[in-house]
Amino acid sequence: MAVPGVAIRGQRSLLRQIREALAGGGPAQARLDMVVRIIARSMVAEVCSLYMRRAAGDMELFATEGLDPAAVHVTRMKPGEGLVGEIMKLGRPLNLADAPEHPAFSYRPETGEDPYHAFLGVPLLRGGRAIGVLVVQNRTARIYTDDEVEDLQIVAMVLSEMVAAGELIGEAALKGVEIAPHRPERLKGTRFGDGLAYGVAVLHEPPVAPSQLLSDDVAAEEMRLSAAIHSLQAQIDQMLAGDAGLVDASFEVLDTYRMFAHSQSWNRSLQDAVSNGLTAEAAVERVRSEHRARLGQARDPYLRERLHDLEDLNDRLLRHLSGDGHAARELPENAILIARNLGPADLLEYDRKKLRGLLLEEGSAASHAAIVARALDIPCVGRLPNLRDKVSEGDMVIVDAETGEAYLRPRTDVVKAIQARIDVRRQRRAEFDKLRDTPAFTRDGAKISLFMNAGLDVDLDILVDTGAEGIGLFRTEFQFMVAEEMPRFNAQTALYGRVMDAAGDKPVTFRTLDLGGDKVLPYLEAEREDNPALGWRAIRMGLDRPALLRLQLRALIAAARGRPLRVMFPLVASVDEFRAARALVDVEIAWAQRRGRQAPSRLDVGAMIEAPSLVWHLDALLPMTDFVSVGTNDLMQYLFAADRGNPRVDSRYDPLSPPALRALEQIQRACAETGTPVSVCGEMAGRPLEAFALVALGFDRLSMPPAGVGPVKQMVLSCDREAARRGVAALLKSGAGSVRNEIETLARKIYVAV
Ligand code: PEP
Ligand code: MG
Repeated sequence: MAVPGVAIRGQRSLLRQIREALAGGGPAQARLDMVVRIIARSMVAEVCSLYMRRAAGDMELFATEGLDPAAVHVTRMKPGEGLVGEIMKLGRPLNLADAPEHPAFSYRPETGEDPYHAFLGVPLLRGGRAIGVLVVQNRTARIYTDDEVEDLQIVAMVLSEMVAAGELIGEAALKGVEIAPHRPERLKGTRFGDGLAYGVAVLHEPPVAPSQLLSDDVAAEEMRLSAAIHSLQAQIDQMLAGDAGLVDASFEVLDTYRMFAHSQSWNRSLQDAVSNGLTAEAAVERVRSEHRARLGQARDPYLRERLHDLEDLNDRLLRHLSGDGHAARELPENAILIARNLGPADLLEYDRKKLRGLLLEEGSAASHAAIVARALDIPCVGRLPNLRDKVSEGDMVIVDAETGEAYLRPRTDVVKAIQARIDVRRQRRAEFDKLRDTPAFTRDGAKISLFMNAGLDVDLDILVDTGAEGIGLFRTEFQFMVAEEMPRFNAQTALYGRVMDAAGDKPVTFRTLDLGGDKVLPYLEAEREDNPALGWRAIRMGLDRPALLRLQLRALIAAARGRPLRVMFPLVASVDEFRAARALVDVEIAWAQRRGRQAPSRLDVGAMIEAPSLVWHLDALLPMTDFVSVGTNDLMQYLFAADRGNPRVDSRYDPLSPPALRALEQIQRACAETGTPVSVCGEMAGRPLEAFALVALGFDRLSMPPAGVGPVKQMVLSCDREAARRGVAALLKSGAGSVRNEIETLARKIYVAV
């Protein structure tokens, strides 16, 4: 009697035989018949059947060896129906000694399967989804061995990759098979950046091509796999042992990684797959598919998290196998990148001219990918669960970052509607472009200076395009957030120098590091805090770690090379903090001068007004500052005690409300009285209606995301400031929680474009 399992292990050529049978000429049906025959023979099974998923969602018997051939293309199972439907639903193998005893068993007389008891079925998985089911059956009741299960899974993987690669598609018999989801879908996510895009899906981590599935030399492949696993394990061990000063959370994550990386079952599954003839890359994909199918359905958030750990581990292993990170891929025109999440530099490696949008399964508005996407003006929607299982490479997709939605394979009417919206945006942009060199004066002659916010050197090209008068807020922490390790003095100096060079005569206001809160760096040790927004962040960190802040100030002074320099400090909450921070600037200027270095030709040092405490101490603060800038994002969060990063609470309050507007008015008035230049640099400055209210309150310097400059300028040009001032002043006395509607009515009444 043949020993099952060993059957396949002994004849690695089985996979090749299947490949040849599938790739060979002749009708698709004949090729599939041949495949099931080959498998049945190798597995010493009396029955081997292949079911494929029809577009309607049913599994249909496509080929069989052993069952009644008349049942082919007749027998169908719905998801969850019968054993085949059960495998399809669960996405994992079912190994039964006596199939008819199983509660899900559904008897189909046309198949003639009465005499068979032993049943082993495995799904054909694509990205964690079952596109088919492969079954073997034997008369004698018995459980199939682990090796047999593994063997059949490998055969299923090769089959699914080949079917999906289109080697059988196009033939009548296989028409209507649902290899990949094809129906239009609309997913609701979270908007991480503004804008709209329509284009073709490109997977950040594309699946392994079927041509690379089978190895030519098993022994060499086994060695390659174990070398990669060892180097991966060593790297993770080193991360844990190193003096990186890991925070609790990242330690936990890495410890779980280590557990998985050393886990025998993971290693064994990979090694088994390679000994059976797969390449190491294909083995990783096979094990990954299985994990996804198994854990992807878990409701338990802990288990789902573990799946993410495993995914990361698989990605890391693929990188170790390729010797290095993946080189940037060639993009098609109008590419929409699909990823689970992106690492710091990933997005920058793609061709910006072709990349139109970004869809992420995870992430947050403060994540690196989202920050870079905004800087590049690429529409981005995140938090789209299971996105990668729902979209295939080459699908047409829409990124609607205005509403936070994604449309997969949209219908023509949806495409038309989106295209119309894209056209409107383009036209509006063209109108704004025309205004680029027009200075922003209100109708009654008040000059309003419009600046843009930036944070990476990728933003710099945009400075000229927007027509902004300069950079009103340069968020220096972005460089730290997108780097793998702490940027050193030279890297900081180089970036600041490039920014000043690109800005030319236009002023740049550099904000010192605003880290902590939601901006955490993996390489910087930080305590876990219960209330990070109220915790050790921004200038608090800078003053407690003066070496870090001084190094940054030194880099700014060096980069200025005798040019004017403007620096401001984030989240100052008391005048003492500002005094201490300003003293460090003096120390660094003196340090540079002692070494014969050029001091800036003019130095302006300012404070951000973000903590409400300062609003009632402006009389003490303003005389110490050269300018101030109101960070309304944080000021509103602290005024209303509502976390700006928490979607549940961040829209409960309205900056267009009496308390917020009164606080802003108080700041403006105090600055006007002392002659202190003041700007507003929070997001609200970039929204025409909010900017209208700010102009009405007397602010004449606004700094905003680049996309806001055009619309805000259009608002300013159409605005009668005196009429706006009178209208808004009256609304400050309102007893309503929000005066947004009233401000909008006012704007329309006096013909302001908001
Ligand atoms: C703000 O808080 O308004 C601000 C401009 O700073 P950030 O958004 O970087 O905290
Ligand atoms: Mg802030």
